[in-house]
Amino acid sequence: MRKEQLAMQLKEVQDIIANAKKPFNNQVTLVAVSKTHPVEDIEAVYQCGVRDFGENKVQELMDKYEQLPKDIRWHMIGHLQTNKVKYIIDKVALIHSVDSLRLAQEISRQAVKKSVTAHILVEINTGDEESKFGVSFTEVAELVEEIAKLPNIVIEGLMAVAPYVENPQENRQYFVKMRDLYVDIIGKNIDNVNMNVLSMGMSGDYEVAIEEGATHVRVGTGIFGQRDYSIS
Ligand SMILES: *Cc1c(COP(=O)(O)O)cnc(C)c1O
Repeated sequence: MRKEQLAMQLKEVQDIIANAKKPFNNQVTLVAVSKTHPVEDIEAVYQCGVRDFGENKVQELMDKYEQLPKDIRWHMIGHLQTNKVKYIIDKVALIHSVDSLRLAQEISRQAVKKSVTAHILVEINTGDEESKFGVSFTEVAELVEEIAKLPNIVIEGLMAVAPYVENPQENRQYFVKMRDLYVDIIGKNIDNVNMNVLSMGMSGDYEVAIEEGATHVRVGTGIFGQRDYSIS
């Protein structure tokens, strides 16, 4: 049965996370990436105790938000257009994909309007062609300083999408670079910045990401199985 299968796959991921070496004593939050998967599957994983779910499309996130329990913490992990911020600003716990001052300004503006605090991560472009979005390593500190001045928006950390690779060890170099950058920005002691989230690692490489200090891993396929884009 589907429910048992999901519970088993989730358990496997949770065990790998629990047993992963954590030389940085990082506590790890599993974000179950539910994009393209039906609400029934999300409910099954929810019933196993998971409360953090990730979506990459505004419309899909809104639809699922309406249908599912309100104690779910929704993570926006996909590219976000400024004109769609208003639809999700009061529905998401964390926006992982902030990659420009313009987007941050709009998030701040909508957060003020709805009297909420927006929690965000700055998305880093690892320099590989597969990370289509995100800011370059050299631009991050300046962007963080600018965003920190805006009202009703709190920078919680950094996020990256590493390239797709057969051997996850190949991505270790990106995770190390991300952690260095993260530590670097913490060291700058920028006002209103409380870096505590390092969102990196997906189904193929989350164990390596945890070994290099990830605090949030975004796992879709490992929990829900392959995505079928033909039906959505
Ligand atoms: C889809 C997606 C994931 C999950 O990918 P899997 O390989 O299925 O685990 C993680 N992060 C982002 C930004 C995604 O778009």
